[in-house]
Amino acid sequence: MQQTDVCVVGGGPAGMMLAVLLARNGLSVTVLEKHADFLRDFRGDTIHSSTLALMDELGWGDEFLSLPHQKLRRLSGVFGGETYTVADCSRLPGRHRYIALMPQWDFLDFLAGRAQQYPGFTLLRSTKVDGLLRDGPRVVGVTAEGPDGRVEIRARLTVACDGRHSDVRRLLGMKSRPFGAPMDVLWFRLPRKSTDPEGLSFITGPGVALVLIDRGDYFQTAYVIPKGGYDGVRAAGLERLVDSVAQLAPSLTGRTDALKSWDDVHVLTVVIDRLRRWHAPGVLLIGDAAHAMSPMGGVGVNLAIQDAVAAARILSPHLLAARDGGAIPGAFFKSLESQLSRVQARRTFPTIATQVLQRALGRGVISRVLESDKPLPVPGFIKLARRLPALQGLTARAIAIGFLPEHVGGA
Ligand SMILES: Cc1cc2nc3c(=O)[nH]c(=O)nc-3n(C[C@H](O)[C@H](O)[C@H](O)COP(=O)(O)OP(=O)(O)OC[C@H]3O[C@@H](n4cnc5c(N)ncnc54)[C@H](O)[C@@H]3O)c2cc1C
Repeated sequence: MQQTDVCVVGGGPAGMMLAVLLARNGLSVTVLEKHADFLRDFRGDTIHSSTLALMDELGWGDEFLSLPHQKLRRLSGVFGGETYTVADCSRLPGRHRYIALMPQWDFLDFLAGRAQQYPGFTLLRSTKVDGLLRDGPRVVGVTAEGPDGRVEIRARLTVACDGRHSDVRRLLGMKSRPFGAPMDVLWFRLPRKSTDPEGLSFITGPGVALVLIDRGDYFQTAYVIPKGGYDGVRAAGLERLVDSVAQLAPSLTGRTDALKSWDDVHVLTVVIDRLRRWHAPGVLLIGDAAHAMSPMGGVGVNLAIQDAVAAARILSPHLLAARDGGAIPGAFFKSLESQLSRVQARRTFPTIATQVLQRALGRGVISRVLESDKPLPVPGFIKLARRLPALQGLTARAIAIGFLPEHVGGA
């Protein structure tokens, strides 16, 4: 059995950011990650302007940006063959007027490398949490299966950062409220040439939409289908999918040969949901475990990181004081509860505001595209943004910085 101040379940963006910040603040932290590495093809690869600003605050910005990345400065929508700028990051405040596109495993490896410099940090890979340790009603740690057998971690605080299918949430008997999302996504790569458009393009056609994300020598491609529609698309055959992509983006004709079999296509189920209460005695849930985000706007990673920054800032003084013998256990756990609800209170507004926008986009744009056999007319706000470019800056701000950006120090 191991003892730690904080046990973090899940080494995704929320878990790794939280762990490095807590370890930096002098706490002992153990992260349990069920996979052996951070390599997963379907992870969002966006590092938002707000995260880059956090890296600067931590003094890691220049080293972080020496890792290979692309800069996403403009998000465009293609309607009826015409391109409209939806978000223009050159209008952002601050040093980083772009979203960096970097494989998420590089980002997580970077955080793990930084965290390893602090003596209190432990990362247990290939270790899947499957149970909670309890002392009466209070969670006091987790049990897991690791490469060398059973693992038991006792902790003053357990934080569930284990994503939208959170095992900790299930073990607590908590249920998220689903808000419905009209779509699922087929995720694949297509070759990109240097003459192709840069940035991110959202292309609509009758009953279908395509998102092309410039990743240097390839496009990360999201083919948007109606919710639950994968079996139908698959039954229609790979050739039909390839033809549809070429119709939506004629410049890609021929390059769709890269799709050789359905093994090259990942189906990603889109979910938007939220917990009413993000904590229980001795345990906090953040990131997708508390609120699954749709890929619309590509903001889920940013919200997960922002939750982690707020949690580390709010909880560290309390956890450190208890460590220094400044509080008796009973009083510690009582006041821990109020600190956990402070974290939720702080992050509720940005989460709800972002989900409201995602749901509005889902109804106003995605559903209309997917349900129609005609091309979608240009949505009103996109036409307006063409006339009032300041609106393109506001959209960029909502995506690249988000509501209520967090800072490492100061409340
Ligand atoms: C199709 C699609 C595309 C997306 N694209 C983007 C995008 O471009 N940009 C963006 O910002 N967001 C995007 N998102 C959303 C984004 O992926 C999530 O919001 C974000 O990853 C949440 O981070 P997290 O750390 O909370 O959870 P996750 O990234 O899900 O990390 C959870 C971690 O916990 C681990 N884990 C799970 N269970 C256990 C267990 N029992 N024991 C130990 N470890 C466990 C997992 O292996 C994983 O490493 C997309 C979502 C979808 C569906």
